[in-house]
Amino acid sequence: MNIRVGILTAPHIEHEPAANGFRLHNVRIGIGFHWDREEDQTFEGKLEITDNADGTQTAVNVIDIEDYLCSVISSEMNADSPMELLKAHAVMSRSWAIRAIAANRTSASRMRQAAWESNGHKGFDVCADDHCQRYEGTRRMNSRAVEAVRATQGEVLTYGGEVCDARFHKCCGGRTELFETCWEDVHVPYLEPVDCPWCGTKDERVLRNVLNDYDRETKDFHDWEVRYTQEELSDIVRSKSGTDFGTITDLRPLHRGASGRIDRLEIAGTKRTETIGKELKIRRTLSRSCLYSSWFDVEREGTDFVLRGHGWGHGAGLCQIGAAVMADKGFNYKEILAFYYKGAEVSRHTRQG
Ligand SMILES: [Zn+2]
Ligand SMILES: [Zn+2]
Repeated sequence: MNIRVGILTAPHIEHEPAANGFRLHNVRIGIGFHWDREEDQTFEGKLEITDNADGTQTAVNVIDIEDYLCSVISSEMNADSPMELLKAHAVMSRSWAIRAIAANRTSASRMRQAAWESNGHKGFDVCADDHCQRYEGTRRMNSRAVEAVRATQGEVLTYGGEVCDARFHKCCGGRTELFETCWEDVHVPYLEPVDCPWCGTKDERVLRNVLNDYDRETKDFHDWEVRYTQEELSDIVRSKSGTDFGTITDLRPLHRGASGRIDRLEIAGTKRTETIGKELKIRRTLSRSCLYSSWFDVEREGTDFVLRGHGWGHGAGLCQIGAAVMADKGFNYKEILAFYYKGAEVSRHTRQG
């Protein structure tokens, strides 16, 4: 089964041949997040360049899904991660990718398709960035990730006979979140909130073994604090939302999901008051890049706004740091997956196409 991965859109795609594939320059990763940067990357498989209506070009990498996964696991996780964590990740990432391919290629999911295309996903199944799954070509490719993909070849998470939409995130902050807090108003039965006692670890050895180089720049992901002056916050919200609220006078959480992540937030200003959501919109609106999560309390200290929060990411499904700690404690990949995806089981994917 091939997957089409959108790598880069630019006025003109510069590429050159490389061993078993091709090389692209200035590929942007972590788009809109706090680790946003550019890298040169090398890919295996086939390169297709599509011309877009606005005159830009998109580089699409067509590659076998198992080879795609070897790169995803290498990109998402450090090579020194425990093997059972890498295997859990392989099964989870394979399930998610198969779901994404099916959603893109069947007319039954036109709404999903429309939402996907509005994210710039036209002519490919998944993007190469954190929005979908990190896919950084062969740059960080490592033999242990490849071993984990081969050891679980064809294995997916299923629930009621269907492949799961296996969401994951960096650190839940103590409790995982519902699907509907983050995306469409659909209840996904295997994404029930789970109390996660694992990801609060301060064990440097575990974190060093799990996180990629640039993820280790992020330290305070379980419990964090962001402080703004009233003027700073007003500027950020104006530039990120495109709406002039005047001076922000209050941030009121109107609704929270199961973990505590806010999915509706009222922003009150001297010129207008509006409610925004869901979690990613809130995270992007309240930060020059993106808040770690939407699970926070708002406190005022004088005129300053202090956001005290928990977790890194949307919080639905598997908590990568928590899963790493579980693997370190000796749980196997099936136990790890069963902990975060309630009622789901590991089975062999049979349909090809
Ligand atoms: Zn994407
Ligand atoms: Zn956790």
